[in-house]
Amino acid sequence: MKIKGFQKLTLIDYPGKLASSIFLFGCNFKCGFCHNPELVLKPSLESYSEEDILNFLEKRKKYLDGVCFTGGEPLMTLDINFVEKIKALGYFIKIDTNGSFPEKLLELINENLIDYVAMDIKSSKEKYSEITNVDVNFLDVQNVVQVTPSNTIHFGASQNPNKPHFSECGKIHGFYDLEESIKLISNLPDYEFRTTILEEYHDIAEIRKILEWLNKTSGKKIKRFVLQGFKNHGKLIDSKFNEEKNTSEEHLLKLKKIAEEYCDNVIVRV
Ligand code: SF4
Repeated sequence: MKIKGFQKLTLIDYPGKLASSIFLFGCNFKCGFCHNPELVLKPSLESYSEEDILNFLEKRKKYLDGVCFTGGEPLMTLDINFVEKIKALGYFIKIDTNGSFPEKLLELINENLIDYVAMDIKSSKEKYSEITNVDVNFLDVQNVVQVTPSNTIHFGASQNPNKPHFSECGKIHGFYDLEESIKLISNLPDYEFRTTILEEYHDIAEIRKILEWLNKTSGKKIKRFVLQGFKNHGKLIDSKFNEEKNTSEEHLLKLKKIAEEYCDNVIVRV
């Protein structure tokens, strides 16, 4: 776990709480419009020590309510012992995630270590690979017949036996179980699914597809959905987004109306 950023006070990262934010390095996705490209691509950034952060949090526990873990993708490297130490100081814990590490998420849930999860939903299933710049496959587990100890996977008739497939270490290439994360998160008392809106990608049809997918996967209406405006700070992973405009409030409000057909609590963050 490499801590590459520490914000001592944030009024916006943890809804309703005064919090600190801890930024962890590394991400398995490479979204072209990533808001924190240095945390995805630049391991040479200065590191913060766990001890210094724990000392700070110990001193400020009377004044701060929560701690957010963000990144990058925090669940890729998050040290659960570190979270336990922060939780033991009495802090609420929020995790930002892209949803591709459901096992780690489940471990944190089972240990009662998290109070709020915000999962980024990049797009509808069809556009995930295009947006994240990695080969994201969605496996229809109903069609998986058997996984053998020799790390081969057998599919039902409708699956292509070559893609996705197991690597030598037993991982399925390109398979990120985002839907397992959606199910876990939608059963938590407090959470949000959020989409960063790029006008070129996220139109009314796309928002309908996203919310239909979320509700279908979670088996109910999701509790909270956030439409987050894209802000072009000029430092982006993929230069094709360099000219992308900031999302207009008008576009966000138009999408909000549609999203409210599927979710009772839709929030716009400009
Ligand atoms: S925006 Fe994409 S690349 Fe950037 S941290 Fe989030 S998931 Fe990773």
